[in-house]
Amino acid sequence: MKLFFSPTQLLHRPQQYFRFGRIGTALENPDRMETLAASLAGLGLMRHEPADHGLDPILAVHDAAYVRFLQEIWGLWQTLPDAGPEVLPNIHPYRGAGSDLIRQDRSRNTGPIGLTGYHVGDMSCAMGSGTWAAAHASAQTAIAGADALLAGERHALALCRPPGHHCYRDRANGFCFLNNAAIAAEHLRSRFGKVAILDFDTHHGDGTQAIFYARGDVLVASCHTDPADYYPFFAGFADERGHGAGEGANLNLPLRPGADDDDYLSAVRGLAAAVTAFGAEALVVSAGWDAHRDDPLSKLAVTGNAFPRLGEIIAGLGLPTLIVQEGGYSLAAIAEAAPSFITAFLAVHR
Ligand SMILES: [Zn+2]
Repeated sequence: MKLFFSPTQLLHRPQQYFRFGRIGTALENPDRMETLAASLAGLGLMRHEPADHGLDPILAVHDAAYVRFLQEIWGLWQTLPDAGPEVLPNIHPYRGAGSDLIRQDRSRNTGPIGLTGYHVGDMSCAMGSGTWAAAHASAQTAIAGADALLAGERHALALCRPPGHHCYRDRANGFCFLNNAAIAAEHLRSRFGKVAILDFDTHHGDGTQAIFYARGDVLVASCHTDPADYYPFFAGFADERGHGAGEGANLNLPLRPGADDDDYLSAVRGLAAAVTAFGAEALVVSAGWDAHRDDPLSKLAVTGNAFPRLGEIIAGLGLPTLIVQEGGYSLAAIAEAAPSFITAFLAVHR
């Protein structure tokens, strides 16, 4: 199995993260990648630095004005009097009753506050001088993994950071700036007629869902903690099944807080069955390790024993598979979960 990783991804070093009414230190930090890379080192994977495919595969998924915002916002932020250390939003467009009657696009915004309020959905996306370079490298890592499948590899691992599955076409959210899994899935569509994204991160991949919600060629299947009282709060419910041509090509299996290994595995089996029923020809896995009960964000009772079983279930699909790194914030839990998942995956998927 080829493993793709770019050290440029470490240049995103957020300092602030707003949670439960207070600014704390960022959970999504470069230590995660160093721990992951070290924990996978013993598996004998072939490590590659991704080539730079430029912006085209990114713009196949993301809005051009949003990508320009990511490239330029750090410089623009420095023009603020007494600018803070990082780009963070303090206002958002209103999306509720009557908002459709008032033009609320970003075309008349010229300064960093309005643009950031439009393009950044929450307070977990602090941006610094290296954020764009890191997000771009993370997307290139996913693209390189997809390219490996296009070239005939049976599987590949993209160690992407920052993660991607909360990022919308034109909005950063939940630690995510570019939707790596969506970019990879779109790239795979150049050869594979139907692509599935299977997401077992403990958070619903709301960005991925939105990007493909009206499309019938990409299945998005996710199990995650019930969003009724959990991030991302406003998406991830079981009745979200897709729209128009995408009707039936979106599957959400929310898990109650406290769900255990059996509940989690049974949900992932449900996702795998949907991938087969969909007739997917290639698979992108949004792999997050934050369902683990030791994760600081987890509300589940999932143990380390679940992750090798997940690897077996997903490998059993027998599809060309790109594993894309998403969440996981306990260094000890990811050091246990990721290598055990990959080892079990490779034992089945030869
Ligand atoms: Zn997550």
